[in-house]
Amino acid sequence: MTKHIFVTGGVVSSLGKGLTSASIGMLLEQRGLSVRMQKLDPYINVDPGTMSPYQHGEVYVLDDGSETDLDLGHYERFTNSPLNRHSNYTTGQIYLSVINKERRGEFLGQTVQVIPHITNEIKAALAMPAGEGVDVVITEIGGTAGDIESQPFLEAIRQFSLDAGKENCLYIHLTLVPYLKAAAELKTKPTQQSVGILRQIGIQPDILICRTERSLSRDDRAKIALFCNVPVEAVIEEKDKDFSVYEVPLSLVEHGLDELIVRKLGLKAGPLKLEQWRDLLHRLRNPEHELSIAVVGKYSEHRDAYKSIYEALDHAGVAHRAQILIQRIHSEAVEREGPERLLAGVDGILVPGGFGERGIEGKVDAVRFARQRGIPFFGICLGMQCAVAEFARNVMGLERANSTEFDKNNPHPVICLLDEQRTITDKGGTMRLGAQPARLTPDSRAATCYGTLDISERHRHRYEFNNVYRPKFTEHGMQVAGTSPDGILVEVVEIPSHPWFVGVQYHPEFKSQPTRPHPLFAGFVGAALKRHPARTEPGGGDGGA
Ligand code: GLN
Repeated sequence: MTKHIFVTGGVVSSLGKGLTSASIGMLLEQRGLSVRMQKLDPYINVDPGTMSPYQHGEVYVLDDGSETDLDLGHYERFTNSPLNRHSNYTTGQIYLSVINKERRGEFLGQTVQVIPHITNEIKAALAMPAGEGVDVVITEIGGTAGDIESQPFLEAIRQFSLDAGKENCLYIHLTLVPYLKAAAELKTKPTQQSVGILRQIGIQPDILICRTERSLSRDDRAKIALFCNVPVEAVIEEKDKDFSVYEVPLSLVEHGLDELIVRKLGLKAGPLKLEQWRDLLHRLRNPEHELSIAVVGKYSEHRDAYKSIYEALDHAGVAHRAQILIQRIHSEAVEREGPERLLAGVDGILVPGGFGERGIEGKVDAVRFARQRGIPFFGICLGMQCAVAEFARNVMGLERANSTEFDKNNPHPVICLLDEQRTITDKGGTMRLGAQPARLTPDSRAATCYGTLDISERHRHRYEFNNVYRPKFTEHGMQVAGTSPDGILVEVVEIPSHPWFVGVQYHPEFKSQPTRPHPLFAGFVGAALKRHPARTEPGGGDGGA
């Protein structure tokens, strides 16, 4: 019998519900349990694939091609829970499914309503990841208790325990306990009110996790326990972590969260194995080198727009015992101020993915700077496409060469629409998406990094390398280092004469874990480190000049 944990949030958004849920998943896995992670999002978009990164941060892509919320990235970095399209549902998806059923006549004769039709659909979604061999499903409910949009989800998780049995469900509420400087004390009232909202709709949280900047005293916890109707041991402190998100699980263990969950759900769990995780934190805390890596993006001012890229760089840094100082550089700033001013001191340049014309020329300038100066370069998706355009313009002499995404009538369309995309008009879920196999060229840099020739990586694009130009690129020194297994779609390009210049059409950042960094990120950071062997002390070296 699979057990269910529901994680809700209160008081404010951005409390780190995703990280907390991922941490719980990781702890239960490290106690030998089989865990599945799931997120329900209250917005009406069917998936976040159509949303701007400014609205919602990164769109996280799964193997099966689902375009999902970035919290699923935390789940995959912290746990080994296999994720698929049942791992992320939105209000839009739930309603779409109910409305389609109504049109097909499946509710013939009935008035279709939020309760029971929408809530039944949500309950079916909650049950999806459960089954044979799965010990626990952890479902995070997006939004905050009290939001109009979250109501059907909260109602559904309340009903769920009636069907599945109260003993098989656990409600965890993440809340904020703010510190008021003027009063010089922590305030528990917002937590009481948030739990009050949940209790009004029939949910009594079993465990409260309190985000706070100061430690809770025994009295604070006792007060919260009394007003929120939970035992004091179920009031768990989650103090802000300035250093690394990977500290969160360990601090929850300190407050006994894993044991509490195991006991409350009657799980048959083994002892907690934390050696690997402790080693990770030790490495993070004790770097031997310091590297400056520029990520030249077009959404750089948004903290979460390149979340998985920043994380993957950190993972590769851990592998090389290097602290990565990530410079978030806006490609429009490169256009305005020139690459010299913004990129002169860096050890590596990464140009990530994106859509639309704005900021493209700055990305192309950054590629040129990396190529000409021999600075390790890593281009991802749009970043690879910009590298191809830059090479065509400045090495092959194809003036103004570009992607047809930005210039439909370009005389040198070195990047063009994928054939399969030509007849597609709908925007949602219609790109080339998800895991696709690729074959690497023997002895290429990529093949050396992966240590194998057959790979599978996740994609999210409509445009591709234009094969008409392939011989010309090879002739001038940009090699195709990986293609689809039939040899047709270009997946990897490299400049062998450059210290490290690799562009990939896919998104390797989605498959990097802190204890298992992605081979290309590891290769890139390794090359950046080689460029600055003098830097052996964090904060020392040549100061990035
Ligand atoms: N806009 C480009 C395309 O659609 C690149 C996409 C991306 O970077 N994810 O092909």
